[in-house]
Amino acid sequence: MFCIRFVVFLLPFFLVAEVQGYSAGALQLCHQRQVEALRGRCLSFNYRESRYRFYHSAEPWQTINSRRHGRINCDLSSFSKIDTLVRRGKIHQAKIQFSVGELLIQPYRSQQLLDVSRKMVEEQLYKTARYTPIMLLDYFNRQAPTVDSISMAGMAIYELTIHHTIVKLFIRTSDFLLARITCSSYHDMLGDETHTYRFSDYRAIEGLHIAHTIHIGKLHGVQDTIALAAAEFTASAQAALTRPESYLIREEPACRGEVLTDIWNIADRVYLINLPQAKSRAGVIEFDEFLLVFEAPLNSANGEAIIKCCRDIAPDKPIRYYAVGHHHPWSLGGVRPFIHRGATILCRKESLDYLRYIAGASHSLQPDSLELQPMPLRTQLVDSLSIITDGSLELHIHFVGAASLHANDYVYFYLPSAGILFQGDQAWIRRLDGPGTAGKRQKALYDTIRSLRLDVDTIVQHWPTADSYGVKSVFSFRELEASITKE
Ligand SMILES: [Zn+2]
Repeated sequence: MFCIRFVVFLLPFFLVAEVQGYSAGALQLCHQRQVEALRGRCLSFNYRESRYRFYHSAEPWQTINSRRHGRINCDLSSFSKIDTLVRRGKIHQAKIQFSVGELLIQPYRSQQLLDVSRKMVEEQLYKTARYTPIMLLDYFNRQAPTVDSISMAGMAIYELTIHHTIVKLFIRTSDFLLARITCSSYHDMLGDETHTYRFSDYRAIEGLHIAHTIHIGKLHGVQDTIALAAAEFTASAQAALTRPESYLIREEPACRGEVLTDIWNIADRVYLINLPQAKSRAGVIEFDEFLLVFEAPLNSANGEAIIKCCRDIAPDKPIRYYAVGHHHPWSLGGVRPFIHRGATILCRKESLDYLRYIAGASHSLQPDSLELQPMPLRTQLVDSLSIITDGSLELHIHFVGAASLHANDYVYFYLPSAGILFQGDQAWIRRLDGPGTAGKRQKALYDTIRSLRLDVDTIVQHWPTADSYGVKSVFSFRELEASITKE
């Protein structure tokens, strides 16, 4: 009885040891089936792709879909892609040529090569796996990482970090084919972001196992699909682009460094905090007993820098409110440090769910203050007109919404006592040669100010603030009016 019990007790350990020993070579076996079977040749195939991307949309999480097709040549050391995009009846072509340490990109509608950074070169290795995992599998095999774990679902999992992105291979231990890849990277506003590439519809061509369907799952349930066809072998890879003599990779600083700021006291108790690296600015209103901040751009580092400036402006006054101008990154990206400090977030109901997502998103890959010390999100909804006041100073928050022709949660901040209106990104008033002719969004700004009957003297725009765009970020209502009446 004792012996039987002892054997039963030890059996799971033997099984685990055997599975681990067997699966420790899963990467090599997968490499044999999906890479070595190339036998020095080049793989060439057609693809059709449906791709989605988030954009500066009217509502959060809206996507633009593009359908592309093209041909790819790939071997162990190089990857080339000639991509065709049809838009509004016009055909556009883009090309990529990649090998380890070198990346050439000719974008759509251009004959010039793109300026390429070290980060882009390194990231391209796992981006090629959207179409074929050959180069990535070979890279993993050469790096020879030990198996990270064996999942209960029969997957041998391997992990490497490629330029701050954690890349994991999931290899089935039943047939040693690659089932999926996950790429986890950090998004400044949305936090940890994992893309999952799922490989299916495997077909063996002369011993090389090729997944003919690849689904790529992204944030918020968005999914790209790639279908392969007409795969064949050629003796050598044909280059899509040739390296120019002037080829240089742009080196990037090892870290971002300190966020630069300067404070502009534009009116009594009204401050603009310029953030030149973000080509943007935040606004701070000083009430008798508290501060209100709006338009903290892009990321938590900017939010922290703005909070530091608030201490310089009024060391003893708490930041009671952070007000959301609209849900785009230049207005909302720096909100998390304000949640961490316990500020009440003033927002429209249209952006409340998105704000909750941003507040609750994991930032484990680059922890910010809210990740390190979670705090509850406190919100207060903005009505068609909400007034923040201490009895002497009033800030009016006007809901504009779809009338902005930009975002459905858009609001204006209006200070009646100073005749100043603050808004995110609606106008393009030229610095030189007069204000220029207004576009639709700029006309919408003018029309809304008129329809709300606001007595505006000065308009502050929060993005863009850099000279490179050739537009003003602080301008008079008269200049706006001149751009509307100009033919
Ligand atoms: Zn915007």
